[in-house]
Amino acid sequence: MRLSEQPRTSPLVWATPLVGIILFLLAMGAFFYTLHSEDQNQTQLRVIRDVELARQTIRTRLLSAQERLGLISRGLEESSADMDRFRASSAALMNEFQEVSTVLVVDNERRVTHLSLPALRSTEILHPLYETIEDAESYWAFNTASETRLPVFSRPFLGPSGKVYIEIHSPIMSKGEFQGTVAATVPMASLLNDAVPDSFVQLYLVSIVDGGGNPVASNVSRSIDNAKLSHEVPLDPPGHGLKLRAVLYKTNTELFSNMLAWAVFGLSLVIVWSFVLLFRHAKLRSQAEKRLLAETKFRRAMEDSVITGMRAIDMQGRITYVNPAFCRMTGYLETELVGMAPPFPYWPDRSYEEQQASLDLILSGNAPQKGIEVQVRRRDGSVFDARMYVSPLVDSEGQQSGWMTSMTDITEPRRVRDELAAAHRRFVRILEELDAAVCVQGPDAGADEYIFVNRLHREWFASATPPRMSKSRRNRANQFEPFEWLNTNSQRWYEVRRRSISWVDGVTVIMQVATDISSRKEAENMSRQQQEKLQFTSRLITLGELASSLAHEINQPLAAISNYNMGSVARLKSGKVSPEELLPVLEKVNVQAQRAGDVIRRIREFVKQQEPKRSPCPIGKIIEDAVSFSQLDAKHHMARIEMDIPDALLSVLADPVLIEQVLMNLIKNGFEAMGHLIGDQKHVEIRVSQSAQFALVEVRDHGVGVPEEIRQRLFESFFTTKSDGMGMGLNICRTIIEYHQGQLWVEPAQGSGSVFKFTLPLAEEAALPA
Ligand code: ADP
Repeated sequence: MRLSEQPRTSPLVWATPLVGIILFLLAMGAFFYTLHSEDQNQTQLRVIRDVELARQTIRTRLLSAQERLGLISRGLEESSADMDRFRASSAALMNEFQEVSTVLVVDNERRVTHLSLPALRSTEILHPLYETIEDAESYWAFNTASETRLPVFSRPFLGPSGKVYIEIHSPIMSKGEFQGTVAATVPMASLLNDAVPDSFVQLYLVSIVDGGGNPVASNVSRSIDNAKLSHEVPLDPPGHGLKLRAVLYKTNTELFSNMLAWAVFGLSLVIVWSFVLLFRHAKLRSQAEKRLLAETKFRRAMEDSVITGMRAIDMQGRITYVNPAFCRMTGYLETELVGMAPPFPYWPDRSYEEQQASLDLILSGNAPQKGIEVQVRRRDGSVFDARMYVSPLVDSEGQQSGWMTSMTDITEPRRVRDELAAAHRRFVRILEELDAAVCVQGPDAGADEYIFVNRLHREWFASATPPRMSKSRRNRANQFEPFEWLNTNSQRWYEVRRRSISWVDGVTVIMQVATDISSRKEAENMSRQQQEKLQFTSRLITLGELASSLAHEINQPLAAISNYNMGSVARLKSGKVSPEELLPVLEKVNVQAQRAGDVIRRIREFVKQQEPKRSPCPIGKIIEDAVSFSQLDAKHHMARIEMDIPDALLSVLADPVLIEQVLMNLIKNGFEAMGHLIGDQKHVEIRVSQSAQFALVEVRDHGVGVPEEIRQRLFESFFTTKSDGMGMGLNICRTIIEYHQGQLWVEPAQGSGSVFKFTLPLAEEAALPA
């Protein structure tokens, strides 16, 4: 039977012994009941028999005593004076009948004339000598004897000491005349003691009871409550409703039978208890069996579900077990394989010796831990690669009984492995041929420790590698920003990009891709140089444009200086002037001269500027300077400039002179666009706002605005709508802003006019965190 099948327990298995035990107990009960009642009956019969015997004895003794008394009385009839004979015969009577305590002679007047006491026994004297008998019962017996002339037994009566007595009166007749009685006093207790045999007394509580059932005399004072085993018979003589009662004491046989009963009862209990124990044991066993069965089923399910083929062989190489996966793999049935000795049918013909060698290796216990690669032939003839692992099979006594081999089909893993290797080769090939230097480095690796490098990396960076960013900087810069790096050895520029990637083993590594940007860099350089030249030209042009305005502006202070000077000379000549009056005039001359000097110095600075110099500077200052430069132009156009700069100290990374130039250009264009306006409407507004990394500057005018169709063309070189325009201003402005990594664009303003906007990067300390 397989362990997976649970044996069905028939209900009869438990019902039969249970019924048997119950029947056994019932039979034992019935047996003991029968035995007991039989015993009871036997005992009852014995009691009756014994009591009858005792009665006979008492009766015989009393009748014998009565007869002897009759003999004495007849002796007295014949010779009343022969008292010696009376004494002798009465002494003999009392000697023979120990129960008789006194013998006395009563005359017809009820007077005691003779009294005979037993020798060697103390006796209570009920009727003293020469006194009449007074006791009612004695009197009755005496009277009855005188009337009937027959011996009479008195009723029981109490003596002075509390003892109960009866008396036997035997009449003395002389010539037909009643002469008195010879009476014998018998204590009832003595009657029981002396008349009833000892063997009887030992078995029974013997008593004489009156008509009402009250004990008159008893051989034991205590009473016994087992009334069932007692028997009463009328005791006549003495009669008067007296009865002899015997109650059976408990006997040894009873005790023995009780013990037997208890023993049987005890044994029955033991049987019942062992049955209970057996039942419990069986229950535990059944639970254990159930658990074992569940465990076995679990294991079998596990065994059936594994995809690894399992095969056990004994020490001789004979197959003792195969699991379903093994059968599936080979295509043979379990029944076909189990019991089979090598060579096995799943050995491919061509690798026969190889297989035998593998088996020998297993049987010798030297199979390698990493397993043995073998080829297996399926039933349909197809062959697959498998790997076998071997472990010793040890039985419950610790003895090795064979070998367990597990077998996995490695055809698919091998195919995957080969494909992976091919994919890897392709991948490496691509990377090797790539136009960029690629390397992969562990996050904590040293400068020259790489997980992977491609050909170009080896070529380009054999002598020097791009610097690695420190960890803290990397975190601050929010991962890796691309950067440009000059290899000082080769004098070539590279753009280096780094990013962290998850490597094949799951570890986060850093991949670096470097591209050669030397040619781009060269082009950029050239273009910057051109731009600089252009800017210089532009400044000259702007200067030319501004020259006329400036001349006017310088003229003003110069004219004022001349006026003040002429006034002072005239006053000095007239000699009416005091130094106090002359001083404020000369100070004004000084102010005008300084102003003219300022204008000229700024122009010089502007023209002198050769290379852009970017540095953190407050945007407010730049705008204010630009505005102050433009004031001349504003006056000329009779226009105003308004500023809205909430944070004048906001720091931008810029070359202030270039940005001033941009602003002046935008303001000037704004003025020119508002040529048709007059008065208050003619004004330019400058506003500054801030975003995360940029400052936004807006220059708004209320002029004609820019028609949609030409908006894109405004920033082209030499695009102008003005008769005297060059069309270079906005183009230069955009170049300058883009050089600052900002943007410049135009939008239509609300209402009328247009708004030119540009952004500038905030200096690092002003930039908000992202
Ligand atoms: P120029 O001022 O010498 O023409 P710009 O490059 O400064 O050269 O300007 C190019 C053209 O853009 C101008 O001719 C004009 O038509 C247009 N323009 C520039 N600024 C404005 C403005 N604020 N409003 C309307 N049009 C403008």
